[in-house]
Amino acid sequence: MVFIKIKRLLLFAGLTAIGLTITACMFTKEPKKSKTPFVKGEKIVSANFVGTVWLNHLVETDTTHHVNIGSVTFEPGARTNWHYHEGGQILLVTDGKGLYQERGKPIEVIRAGEVVKCPPNIAHWHGATQTEPMTHIAIGTNTQIGSAVWLEPVTDEEFNAMHDE
Ligand code: MN
Repeated sequence: MVFIKIKRLLLFAGLTAIGLTITACMFTKEPKKSKTPFVKGEKIVSANFVGTVWLNHLVETDTTHHVNIGSVTFEPGARTNWHYHEGGQILLVTDGKGLYQERGKPIEVIRAGEVVKCPPNIAHWHGATQTEPMTHIAIGTNTQIGSAVWLEPVTDEEFNAMHDE
């Protein structure tokens, strides 16, 4: 009888331990880790952006490749100013959820794993959402043609437009 009681006690203790572990896992919020292998880089200090934006410059253009490549991380609420690229641009969204808008068109939600082609000379902006960060690899194409031409900031009204719908 004593043996059975000890066995039951051990079983009870074991189940309690498992239960506590599961509960701890359910309530422990791990900080969300970035899925991109590239580090955030340096904080951008520029009037061409609103909010906190990080840049890791990956590839400097040269006469063979004609591309600039950088990993850009926007903290929630951060975005570029309106701008266009004389040689176009391609965005590879590597982490989070963000926004992209071409002048005169609705705001598009862009998510990790998605690709955006910004045609040459079309004014647009890109950035995080109000509540979530977004990282993309920005590829400036045809750099022999020209670079980014910066315009006015994206106002809060423009940035929040889709959230009012
Ligand atoms: Mn752009």
